[in-house]
Amino acid sequence: MSEHLTTVAGVAVDTRHWIGGERVASAATFTDHSPIDGSVLGEIARGTAAEAGAAVAAAKAAFPAWAATSREERARLLHAVADGVERRLEDLAVVETADNGALLRSHRRGVMPRVAHNFRFFADWLLKLDHADFDTRGHSNHVSWDPAGPCVLITPWNAPLMLATWKVAPALAAGNTVVLKPAEWSPLTASLLAEIAAEAGLPAGVLNVVQGLGSEIGDALTSHPDVRRISFTGSVPTAKHIAASAAANLTPLSLELGGKSPLLVFADADLDLAVDLAVEQYDNAGQVCLAATRLLVEESVAEEFTRRFVEKAALLKQGDPRDEATGLGPNIHPRQLEKIDGFVQRAVAAGARAVIGGHRRDGQYYAPTLLTDVAQDSEIVQEEVFGPVLTLQTFGGEDEAVRLANDTRFGLAATVATGDPERARRVTGHLVAGTVWVNCFFVRDLRAPFGGSRHSGVGREGGTWSFDFYCDLKNTVTSPKGWKDHG
Ligand code: NAP
Ligand code: MG
Repeated sequence: MSEHLTTVAGVAVDTRHWIGGERVASAATFTDHSPIDGSVLGEIARGTAAEAGAAVAAAKAAFPAWAATSREERARLLHAVADGVERRLEDLAVVETADNGALLRSHRRGVMPRVAHNFRFFADWLLKLDHADFDTRGHSNHVSWDPAGPCVLITPWNAPLMLATWKVAPALAAGNTVVLKPAEWSPLTASLLAEIAAEAGLPAGVLNVVQGLGSEIGDALTSHPDVRRISFTGSVPTAKHIAASAAANLTPLSLELGGKSPLLVFADADLDLAVDLAVEQYDNAGQVCLAATRLLVEESVAEEFTRRFVEKAALLKQGDPRDEATGLGPNIHPRQLEKIDGFVQRAVAAGARAVIGGHRRDGQYYAPTLLTDVAQDSEIVQEEVFGPVLTLQTFGGEDEAVRLANDTRFGLAATVATGDPERARRVTGHLVAGTVWVNCFFVRDLRAPFGGSRHSGVGREGGTWSFDFYCDLKNTVTSPKGWKDHG
């Protein structure tokens, strides 16, 4: 077996970059670990600025032909990629679970089918993309979505292939070429995607994957003058760095960032439903950007809500994410675990009370935690933990609920539990968030705009909004006069 192949959960994964339709090795490597047991999964190419530049050059070289490919042919190829994802669904699921520790059953049944859907959806949307021509004093206006050029797509580890393909698919559908940089803590499924795309017939250079450390190759990608779009999902500090780097060339950016989303539980809510929604916030060990980590509960039901929440959370089985019965897996990395525990211990030192959890468990696991007695302006209420840590605060009425909900620098999502549709309408109207759910959570449709307000992001993707971002929109105005007779 090649020294560049590693076997993960029985699946061979190439550890090199994928540039211009070829595997490219780096002189150096970094080690990828499994959060399940800390085992070494492989030595991954540790990209350099020169390799990042080579990937952009490959994307630039492949762009004219890909941009000139008909919409129908691009859509056909994206469906072929989706077919490949579906054929290798089990491989992708087991490798992703080994690499980032998220539940295998959710990779099998939810995440990887969604990866295929990302390609199908944007392929189909491309074919429907249209804006009716309109008339200005007899002149026709025609709007077109023109391919923009090479795109740099940078993604995090919490939902690696899902978040990568949610960008890759529309970027390719738009007629752009792509350089994808996956996260250092979960690099493997991007390598499999390169393989699947090549087998599906995607021309060389249309999709490139560069592995490595963001701190080492990020700038070479984001400040590159040939890059026409940057789409990033990750943390606020990295986003600020990337925005500054992109500013050198005024490269348009889409930023999908962190959150500190609220779940508002009103006294008139179906309390069992509200409790289910609250416990669901421990999904993926709390490593979900959209997670409603701030439980805001109306005073009159707070005690009863807490009692039922504790009961329900006690049923969560924490352990190996490959086990069907597991509800809560490990956290991604020892550094992340340190970070989570740091937040909790500082909160407790500041007077918070851990109703459940508040400590680490053996291995890379953190006990699901609920903290009460937290001040609105405290770190634990204001900062994203990105672990299984929720806070609970109470409110007296609607105005206070909305004020607390909106009082962070984030605005990614919000969830409202109420039995009163009029209240739902009033409250949702006042919430600052890219997505608001009423009596539900995590219902996502690719036709909807997705993104965050304030520090949760810049711009929206999804449906036509994705094409608006990834394309150079053009309006062509044609006069009725001046035509020569070509009859
Ligand atoms: P991160 O540290 O910001 O990293 C995200 C990506 O950026 C990784 O690929 C990282 O590479 C790369 N990167 C790091 N430094 C860079 C630089 N100087 N230039 C270019 N790229 C650089 O975020 P994370 O900890 O992986 O992800 C968690 C965050 O993502 C949370 O805040 C979460 O809320 C957010 N998130 C948001 C959404 C959303 O849709 N809004 C979805 C999921 C997650 P390395 O891995 O090599 O450092
Ligand atoms: Mg890993």
